[in-house]
Amino acid sequence: DRLVDAGADGEDTAVEAALRPKDLHEFVGQEKVREQLDLVLKAARARGATADHVLLSGAPGLGKTTLSMIIAAEMEAPIRITSGPAIQHAGDLAAILSSLQEGEVLFLDEIHRMSRPAEEMLYMAMEDFRVDVIVGKGPGATAIPLELPPFTLVGATTRAGLLPPPLRDRFGFTGHMEFYAPTELERVIHRSAGLLDVAIDTAGAAEIAGRSRGTPRIANRLLRRVRDYAQVKAEGRIDRDIAAAALRVYEVDARGLDRLDRAVLGALLKLFGGGPVGLSTLAVAVGEERETVEEVAEPFLVREGLLARTPRGRVATPAAWAHLGLVPPQQGAK
Ligand code: ATP
Repeated sequence: DRLVDAGADGEDTAVEAALRPKDLHEFVGQEKVREQLDLVLKAARARGATADHVLLSGAPGLGKTTLSMIIAAEMEAPIRITSGPAIQHAGDLAAILSSLQEGEVLFLDEIHRMSRPAEEMLYMAMEDFRVDVIVGKGPGATAIPLELPPFTLVGATTRAGLLPPPLRDRFGFTGHMEFYAPTELERVIHRSAGLLDVAIDTAGAAEIAGRSRGTPRIANRLLRRVRDYAQVKAEGRIDRDIAAAALRVYEVDARGLDRLDRAVLGALLKLFGGGPVGLSTLAVAVGEERETVEEVAEPFLVREGLLARTPRGRVATPAAWAHLGLVPPQQGAK
């Protein structure tokens, strides 16, 4: 339930539908992906054809689902949304594929988590718009070929490298989604504030953007929490001071670190002189599981250049000392 988690929670799911950009013009940032996708879709439309299959890779909350909906809207096609973990048997996939309409967009989130047999069925479906449905078991089993209408698969994955090459090769277009620059997140925040009817000035949006970890989902979530605070304390108006005060209450600091991140960094600096220290020791020091420190806190700290994973253990960088307002021990005096 972290405020700065890039994954969607229940509240996000409800609000996100209202905040999603509806076309490529409204979609902020990701210039390269947007420009390339625009060409792919325009060309397909001009040919009167179904768009090529699209693979979108990138961290959670960067807009993969949103883009898939935009693809469907631009192609004036319906969209079906499912995910790799929901497709455990090839039969599950066959049922979805055989019920698609011509031109429909099938969005498959976490495509790298599909089962092997389903994945193999998908190869043929993507390439030939055909699947073999196996009926029966053992020696009597027969494969019944089933023609599919042409469709566009939009696959999403956190890392394209996780996909087996035969699957990756069957996508006509691969877009890599990057983390957003603070100025782009400011635009996302202004747009969302408009839709939520919240008054916010430029400095207020910048303050929230800087704490949003490069991720629109987090930016929208922080905006909603700051709005609550502003409603109670400032007649609903958000400026820099209100944004900063609100996020202090929610323990999200100027760089987007939360309580857990700061605890890990604080222990590394104050108890272990900046390291190197082993992961298990660090985890015990902050009273968390190893996995929590490694998978929840560290990725962002590493990305921000505050912590390094070395063969000898975790090490704080000079930026970590500066961020927590501490002075590193003198070289050789440790
Ligand atoms: P996940 O992989 O966790 O499902 P995702 O990459 O599919 O995440 P989305 O659900 O598309 O992310 O986006 C999360 C939220 O961020 C949505 O509310 C969406 O409106 C907003 N958002 C994402 N990208 C943009 C963007 N480029 N411009 C404006 N809003 C965006």
